[in-house]
Amino acid sequence: MSLVHLKDKTFRLSISASEIEQRVAQLAQAINSDLAGQQPLFLCVLNGSFMFAADLLKQISLPCQVSFVKLASYQGTASTGNLIEVLGLTEDITGRCVVILEDIIDSGLTMSRLLQTLSAHQPAALHVATLLLKPRALKVSLKVPYVGFSLSDDFVVGYGLDYDGLGRNLNGIYTLIPPSS
Ligand code: IMP
Ligand code: MG
Repeated sequence: MSLVHLKDKTFRLSISASEIEQRVAQLAQAINSDLAGQQPLFLCVLNGSFMFAADLLKQISLPCQVSFVKLASYQGTASTGNLIEVLGLTEDITGRCVVILEDIIDSGLTMSRLLQTLSAHQPAALHVATLLLKPRALKVSLKVPYVGFSLSDDFVVGYGLDYDGLGRNLNGIYTLIPPSS
């Protein structure tokens, strides 16, 4: 069993680098075929998606553009709840075929707010590709056409994802081992 220690926590390998490589290649093929004839704009959500985005995009054969955004959440009104500000969106996405690249969808709240914000700019299409999805943690209904792996609710790190800033450089996905009580 391959273990990593980050700060005060221990994680065990759950998805190896080669499994990720194979799955990312399949996702890229699916996108290449589904979006054939289009010139999509890939929007990579920083920081977590950087490794997924880099590996996926190397296998995209469509003419495409790539851009990077960061999300900042802030408190809206009582009726709107928390809102998302999309930082760094310099491209005009109106009328574009946009593919969002995300590391993980957990409750889905971040993604649903991002979709809402981007929809206001009236893109021609808005697709979501996420490396990881925790289906049982979803609190909103989301259509996610491209999912690398579905996980249980456990906290994971690696391949872009962090625990307190650490672990992004790991080439596999590691799952938190709960401390024995
Ligand atoms: P959501 O809004 O609950 O879907 O969560 C979105 C964000 O929470 C992700 O983009 C990650 O930054 C972070 N996150 C959720 N689950 C994990 C995890 O297991 N490991 C690391 N980050 C996570
Ligand atoms: Mg993220």
